Parts: sequence; C-alpha cells; structure tokens
Amino acid sequence: MLELQNISKQFDQKVVLENIDLKINSGEIVSLLGPSGSGKTTLLNIILGLTRIDQGKVIFNNEDLSNVDMKNRGFNIVFQDYALFPHLNAYENIVYGLRNKKDTASAEEVREYIEFLELKPHLKKRIGELSGGQKQRVALARTLVTKPKLLLLDEPLSALDGVIKESIKERIKSIAKEFNLTTIIVTHDPEEALTISDKILIINQGNISQFGTPFEIINQPKNDFVKEFILRQL
Ligand code: ATP
Repeated sequence: MLELQNISKQFDQKVVLENIDLKINSGEIVSLLGPSGSGKTTLLNIILGLTRIDQGKVIFNNEDLSNVDMKNRGFNIVFQDYALFPHLNAYENIVYGLRNKKDTASAEEVREYIEFLELKPHLKKRIGELSGGQKQRVALARTLVTKPKLLLLDEPLSALDGVIKESIKERIKSIAKEFNLTTIIVTHDPEEALTISDKILIINQGNISQFGTPFEIINQPKNDFVKEFILRQL
C-alpha cells in the first residue's frame, strides 16, 4: 500500500499542494485528475522521489520513504514523451535500464515482457520507425523490465488516438492486473480517468476535491468543482 500523509509543497512561497492524504491499495490503478496547474505532476514527482516535500510522509508497504531518493525508492515512470533513445533500436531501449542495476528482470522475464507487449516483430526497428502506440509499448517494456514496485505514467494516452488509445488503455489495465502492479496515472482528461481507473483523485488548486471510484465520482460528486469538471468534459 502507498500512503501519503499530510503532504504539502510550496514553490517560491506559492502553495502548490496542501495537506494531501491518500491511500492506494496494492495493484490498484489510480488516476490523478485535474486542470492544468492543479498540482498533478508535482504530486507524481513527489511519489517518484524527484521532488522533495516540505511537510508530510510518503509511506510504501509500511516503510517511510520520505527521505529516500528516487534511485532507491524502486519506483519507475513512463514520461509523457516516452524519453526513448532515437539512436538505439527498440530492443536496445528496452534493456537499457538493466545496466548496472540489481533486482531487475532476468533474460527470460525480459522475453516475457516483450511477448506480453507484442513487441517481438519490432525489436530491431529504430525509434523513428515506430508508430505512437509501438513507442508507448517500448517505453512500458523498458520500465517494466526494471521491475518497479510502483508504476507511474504521465499522460500515457495524450499522444495517441482512436483504436491505438483504446488498445494501450487495455494494455495498462492488464499490466496492473497481471503483475499486481500499483499504477498511478496523471491525466487531465476525465473520460480517460473514468475508463481506466479503479479510483480517481480529483485535484483542484493543490487540494483534493474528491477521491473515489469512477462510479462514486459520477453518481456522488462531492462538490460543484467535481460536478462541473467531470460533466463539462464528458
Ligand atoms: P499540467 O496539467 O499543466 O501539467 P499540473 O496539474 O501537472 O499541470 P503542476 O505541474 O504540478 O500542475 O504545477 C502546479 C503549480 O506548481 C503550477 O502553478 C506550476 O507553475 C508550479 N510549479 C510546478 N513546478 C514548479 C517548479 N519547479 N518551480 C516553480 N513552480 C513550479
């Protein structure tokens, strides 16, 4: 379980997150949803260990990680632009993260992730030769082979459309289920959050507006902001 206790963060005296409390169960997909500037990326970076907190605690499986840096947290992220290396082929990108690291996938497990993400026919292709959906699958494989204890995805669907978007959405759901991998997704799109998540955290101006299942968010919105933000964009 991931637990955030009373997290606050300021940048240049501006409060960006205020007293955030949150519990995420193992294997759950949780979306961080909110308008631009609401604090979603800051919260993602705090969980990842990239941004230090001013106040509060980050606890994972009963271990206080508040002062543990990103390298030693054992979490991993797929960035919005995938951050793949264009001079390497798909396979070289996937195994890049294994260099000099302990507790990563064995050769057999790497093959399994490649099969699972149906990347075998594309392994020798350079990044520039891959479609958007294939790039996303390579980025997912590269992250999964590091065997993260928690998977963070920054706007994983925003660069994709139509059928590809749906297929990556289903793929993310099956990764969480198959590997019992707690997955946290940043999105500004209510439709995406409602269709991919077990639970949604709606953030507005650094505060939690509501945390609940898609059913609860739609049927029991806690305040006008949730009602407006969800209904306006559906
Ligand atoms: P978007 O959807 O546009 O990415 P967001 O919800 O992810 O927005 P954040 O990126 O977390 O929002 O930013 C929240 C607030 O914190 C914004 O006002 C932003 O300008 C500010 N902020 C974020 N990072 C920094 C930083 N490193 N230094 C100063 N201010 C920052």
